[in-house]
Amino acid sequence: MKPTQICPTCGQPTLKVKEEAVKNQAIESKNVSSKKVKWQVCVSESCETVYIQNDKQIKRNELRQPVFFKDKTDNTLICYCYKITKGEIKLAIENGCKSVGEVYKYLNKTKSGSCSTNNPLGKSCSGVFKYTFHQINGK
Ligand SMILES: [Zn+2]
Repeated sequence: MKPTQICPTCGQPTLKVKEEAVKNQAIESKNVSSKKVKWQVCVSESCETVYIQNDKQIKRNELRQPVFFKDKTDNTLICYCYKITKGEIKLAIENGCKSVGEVYKYLNKTKSGSCSTNNPLGKSCSGVFKYTFHQINGK
């Protein structure tokens, strides 16, 4: 088993992330090489470092938009393919939506899309969408 890579800034374990996702978030996407070098992502909320590739790091201020695992404001996107923010999910719940499906309907978005490339973790937004929904709706 390969050892877990840790973030050089905060020392927390990192996750693997697809290069395509890194390219979609980085302002200077031309600096994201297309060589087959693996990228890691630091999901620690208080850490400024987002993407890591060997000794190269991409910080929060080098991204096009806030990422949900670093920025917990209402303006942060939760679903990156349909551009749904946390605030919009809140609003939908306040207006009676009882499920994730109803939120999509309420916001007039069809459920399906290219989350896996637009999402900063390079995987479907549905997991974090559900999590956010239950967090707001929960109790
Ligand atoms: Zn970190």
